[in-house]
Amino acid sequence: MLRGKRVLIGVSGGIAAYKIPELVRFFVKNNAEVRCVITPSASSFVTPLTLATLSKNPVESVLYDPITGVWSNHVELGLWADLFIIAPLTASTLSKMVMGHSDNLLLATYLSARCPVLVSPAMDLDMYAHQSTQHNLDKLREYGISVIEARSGELASGLSGQGRMAEPSEIFNESLPLLLRQSYRLKNKKVLITAGPTYEALDPVRYIGNHSTGKMGIALAEKFALEGAEVSLILGPSTQPMAPYSNIQITRIFSADEMFNEVKKLWSNMDVGIFSAAVADYKPQTIADQKIKKSENNLDLVLTKNPDILAWAGENKKHQLLIGFALETNNEVEHAKQKIIKKNLDAIVLNSLRDKGAGFGHDTNQISIIDRQNKITNFELLKKTEVALKIIDYVVQNIS
Ligand code: C5P
Repeated sequence: MLRGKRVLIGVSGGIAAYKIPELVRFFVKNNAEVRCVITPSASSFVTPLTLATLSKNPVESVLYDPITGVWSNHVELGLWADLFIIAPLTASTLSKMVMGHSDNLLLATYLSARCPVLVSPAMDLDMYAHQSTQHNLDKLREYGISVIEARSGELASGLSGQGRMAEPSEIFNESLPLLLRQSYRLKNKKVLITAGPTYEALDPVRYIGNHSTGKMGIALAEKFALEGAEVSLILGPSTQPMAPYSNIQITRIFSADEMFNEVKKLWSNMDVGIFSAAVADYKPQTIADQKIKKSENNLDLVLTKNPDILAWAGENKKHQLLIGFALETNNEVEHAKQKIIKKNLDAIVLNSLRDKGAGFGHDTNQISIIDRQNKITNFELLKKTEVALKIIDYVVQNIS
């Protein structure tokens, strides 16, 4: 069933590690290729010899050999895998994954992996119930990682409660949809995403900005990355947290002009452009060298138009699929359709500020996708991460 599939099993140091040889057996019996990477403390609970014998591959555990200086290639390991399972996942490895630490081979491999990741936590009941642990598990879910909840029952401490690792057979079953799902739909496709607001400086301390948070664009970048795309994210001032992905290249910019410069550098090499940034339409005509004093009752500002970055990408479009966003308050569909033509787009994602839960700052968005043939697909109110998947489905169906 799993011939040709490559499973990387990461083992961290918890008593449930003694069950991992059985998990390795499940995969080997189903003809998957298995490799194991373990944290330094895991070998106290399960021997590398057992894992190596059953997986038929050497077990990886150290970043480098201090005597020979030979280093283990975590990038190669991460890229090799079709699925990375971390079981048991201890509280310590969990918190390091959330923070992006890389002080052992398992963690460095996790940060380099482009495949789906499945974790099966195991710890004592109070550790598992602790706010920090639950917060960290939520963070992993936000990063797109599949989490198998710990099971309830007897624990190594003698206490009883939720904290047991799921059984190897359960972990194996949970892994199947991830392993058998279609392989990356956008492998090696180059995707440019603009996101967040732009800030237009008035003087050294002030700017004109807007309420965009960058959430939608960041969700798009992460979901495209999970489909194997090479993502270039041009991100305006946003404080939104982001998971580290080796296939997302982030360029931080402040103003529309800076965003435009970056887009001009990259556009010709791209396959897809998704312009979700809330670019300021106008900027101050001059930026004062010194802080503007509040001497008069009124202050007149002369504003000048910013470049329309999306329209430029439309004019310079060759093979690329180009999608813009439109945030409208009235005559939404009509305005959006006009923008498709005016900016030479393939499609536009329309969100209306009239819809509750849609637009700036929310975790949800209600969108319609309108294409060049005026076909309108409406979606219900969805999480921005789910909206990103709808947009990706459109891209997959329409990319040449
Ligand atoms: O014309 P309007 O601002 O409504 O168009 C919105 C779309 O155009 C969004 O996709 C936005 O990212 C993009 N845009 C741009 N540069 C601008 C203004 C908007 O790329 N100066």
